[in-house]
Amino acid sequence: MKQDFYVVLGVQRDASEADIKKAYRKLAMECHPDRNNGEKSAEEKFKLVTEAYEVLRDPDKRAAYDRYGMAGVGRGQGGGGGSSSMHFDLSEALMVFMRDFGIGGSGGFENLFGGGTRRDRRRGHDIKVGLKLTLAEVATGTTKTVRIKSLESCPECAGTGAKPGTQPVQCGTCGGSGEVRHQAQSLFGQFLTVSPCPSCAGEGTIIQSPCDRCGGDGRIKGEKTIQIDVPAGVADHHYLTVRGQGVPGPRNGARGDLIAVLDIKEDPRFERHGDDLVYDLGITFTQAALGAQVEVPTPFGQTTLRVEPGTQTGMAYRLRAKGLPRLGEGGHGDLHVRIHVWTPTKLTAEQRKLFEKLSEVEDAPPEKESGKFWDTIRRALGHL
Ligand SMILES: [Zn+2]
Ligand SMILES: [Zn+2]
Repeated sequence: MKQDFYVVLGVQRDASEADIKKAYRKLAMECHPDRNNGEKSAEEKFKLVTEAYEVLRDPDKRAAYDRYGMAGVGRGQGGGGGSSSMHFDLSEALMVFMRDFGIGGSGGFENLFGGGTRRDRRRGHDIKVGLKLTLAEVATGTTKTVRIKSLESCPECAGTGAKPGTQPVQCGTCGGSGEVRHQAQSLFGQFLTVSPCPSCAGEGTIIQSPCDRCGGDGRIKGEKTIQIDVPAGVADHHYLTVRGQGVPGPRNGARGDLIAVLDIKEDPRFERHGDDLVYDLGITFTQAALGAQVEVPTPFGQTTLRVEPGTQTGMAYRLRAKGLPRLGEGGHGDLHVRIHVWTPTKLTAEQRKLFEKLSEVEDAPPEKESGKFWDTIRRALGHL
């Protein structure tokens, strides 16, 4: 599959650098894995648009691409074919995005993907909460409300940390830039190092008269209620990131994120295998022999299963699309109903009489019948 990088970014061939950057930013925000619950197709698109951007933003690479196409940027047909973005892995793509757009307010990325640099010194911490869900909630998706004790912006000083009526003043050491530069000498000549200003800790301003209520921090203890939207089909230990709902940074610094770690309560009725569910159904001798309509539970309520005449223990019925929703893909998994023919343990006089009568006319089971039923369900689920 050959992809034209201009088409990928949706820009004209004579697009300016600014246009390219703008187009990339918009697309990358839409398909960023962190916004799509790690959905595979979004991730692929994210990698592809990032690769296109990396080539077109660089005048030399762009010129080579314009003249020679993929071959001009070292992405020819070799290496096993497939999509052109195969040379770009997710962590590289995320690095590109972080480098050009990820500064400030995007610390959530590092929670999901590890690494990353936190360049906003005043960004507040992330808050991690456990979110308990039932299987029924997973089946339909839900909105959960959580109450969080954290720090909130100080109302007295509007988060600035400065006593009302006063202003933070520009730091004299760094002149407000928050950075100090040193010339240093190395074997290879002079070079410049940049480090955070020691006087203002990189903030560029200094509080001379701190607010009485928050002591200059700009935050006080508080509590808040947050609604978290949980999409259908999530799995245990998935994360949901709610941007900007973590702890605010000191002195109106950027807010951290709220990270909800999902804890899904087992439903004793079902075994979960991804989007598929397995339900064990007991049926009687007569239902097995004659067939029957039986009610079985699904995560969405009851449904009717037609048990065919001659059903054996260990056979599995597959109820298509009666399993859990497929996260981010649409559609549902299946519900597998595993049959157990139940042998009665107590018989009434009448039942005994009927069984005795039946025993006079029934056939012996064929030899070599067991085994294959379990194979059916093993095949259906891959493994069990
Ligand atoms: Zn205050
Ligand atoms: Zn300073």
